[in-house]
Amino acid sequence: KPSQPLLSVDGVEVVYDEHILGVADISVTVNPGEIVAILGANGAGKSTTLKAISGIAQTERAKITKGSIRFKGDQINGIAPHKLAKRNIVHVLEGRRVFSHLTVEENLKAGSFLRRPARREMERRIEEIYDWLPRLRDKRKTLAGLTSGGEQQMLAIGRALLTQPELVLLDEPSMGLAPIIVQEIFEIVSRLNRENGVSFLVAEQNIHVSLAHAHRGYVIANGHAVLSGSASELAAREDLHEFYLGLQ
Ligand code: ATP
Repeated sequence: KPSQPLLSVDGVEVVYDEHILGVADISVTVNPGEIVAILGANGAGKSTTLKAISGIAQTERAKITKGSIRFKGDQINGIAPHKLAKRNIVHVLEGRRVFSHLTVEENLKAGSFLRRPARREMERRIEEIYDWLPRLRDKRKTLAGLTSGGEQQMLAIGRALLTQPELVLLDEPSMGLAPIIVQEIFEIVSRLNRENGVSFLVAEQNIHVSLAHAHRGYVIANGHAVLSGSASELAAREDLHEFYLGLQ
């Protein structure tokens, strides 16, 4: 058993605009080297959980009103997102927000503005990212807005990798993508995890593909974590869908 969790979210409540409950009581752990899935229907609180961790919640008039978030033992709730980037956590937002008027390679470079490495090092890291995501190498001179949805998702992931994170918060990578592309994205996540030791916390509505690639998972309904377990335990539960829909 690992000595210390990489991330521990403990009893977190998030409130938007001082009155809208985002999540009520979320506890999630990511151990070093794990892929952990947060599953839940629309509006369950998956994005809010990731935003609380990355600090982005603060920029959306949201506050963490209960609980604590620790990264490698240090309390991080309330730390500004740009400071968190220095702690090797990176958040890939839902909806693949790439700069459509910049090329793929310009997007990669722009992604690291918070921790910009020297030019040589930048070039080395970009080559490494192209090795992980060869489709990006093929499209490096193409405007990001002209690439496919799957390529844009890969670009969003590649941009995050440029900061050499230990933990990637990945919000709904399957959104709007064909099943075969979703499969490809999750296989990249698995490889980055296995071969490069990157840990992932992935928020997903797609139960099947997430549990096929994650080590463990949590089901969130109405802002509460209602079920957790190993991916195989969760996948085997016949009542999983009822929990997912908040009926249990
Ligand atoms: P989705 O898949 O739609 O992103 P989700 O599980 O990620 O769903 P959240 O986006 O975290 O769910 O939403 C949780 C709750 O917080 C919802 O009731 C939602 O309406 C509310 N919420 C989310 N963002 C905001 C915001 N910026 N302002 C006010 N309320 C918000």
